[in-house]
Amino acid sequence: MIYRALIKEIPTLSKTTVYNTLNLFVKKGLVIPIAIDEQETRFDIDTEPHGHFLCVKCGRIYDVGKCSALFDKNEIDGHKILECRVYLRGICRECLKKQ
Ligand SMILES: [Zn+2]
Ligand SMILES: [Zn+2]
Repeated sequence: MIYRALIKEIPTLSKTTVYNTLNLFVKKGLVIPIAIDEQETRFDIDTEPHGHFLCVKCGRIYDVGKCSALFDKNEIDGHKILECRVYLRGICRECLKKQ
């Protein structure tokens, strides 16, 4: 998707360049890879802690749980938390409306 959006402006762009740049962004903490979908890796520019909800009907991904108390913790049962990833799957509110 990113490649298709950029190729119009930069005709010499290669997919490898896009991947390498994205990996660099991940390393720098500018984007977060989301592994909710096995088919493709998606990237999130919102690096604030939050969860993701994947709709199994339309495939849309929603940002959820920004204020969840879980993300405020930095330890749980004596374990130090370095990363907290929350993935939820279900049917989104838009698809529920259509049912
Ligand atoms: Zn949906
Ligand atoms: Zn997100």
